[in-house]
Amino acid sequence: MTLLEPLPDLEEIRALNPDGTELLGSRCDSCGSGFFPRRQLCFECGADALRDVELGHRGVLYSYSRVELSSARPTPYTLGYVDLDNGVRVLADISVPEDLLVPDLPVALTTDPAGKWSFAPAVNPAEETDEN
Ligand SMILES: [Zn+2]
Repeated sequence: MTLLEPLPDLEEIRALNPDGTELLGSRCDSCGSGFFPRRQLCFECGADALRDVELGHRGVLYSYSRVELSSARPTPYTLGYVDLDNGVRVLADISVPEDLLVPDLPVALTTDPAGKWSFAPAVNPAEETDEN
C-alpha cells in the first residue's frame, strides 16, 4: 500500500556537503511548478518537461497531524506538510516534541543514524554555537 506512505526512498535525498542534506524534487520548465517526490508529468499543466532540482532543506511547518493508530507503523508519530523555502510543499514525518508543534514553526531536514529522514525544529546557528 504505497498510498499511505509519504516517505520516498532515500535516493530522494542527496548529501549536499558534510553539514547537511536536501531533498530532490522536480521542477516544470513550462509553468515553474515544483514537486516532491520527483515526477515525470506536471500535475499543474500536464507538461512532461520536468527536470530534477534540489529543493533545499529548510522550510516552515504548514500543518500537521498526530497519528495515534496505525496498522503499518509504530505510534504515535506526526505527519505534516512543510512549505520549503523555494515554495514546494512536502508531506513528511515531523520530529518535533508535541508541546512545540505549531503552524509556521521553522523546520529543517534531518536524518537519523538509520538514514530515516524527517523535519525537526530548525536550529539557529547562534544557539548551536552556545550549546557546544
Ligand atoms: Zn507545469
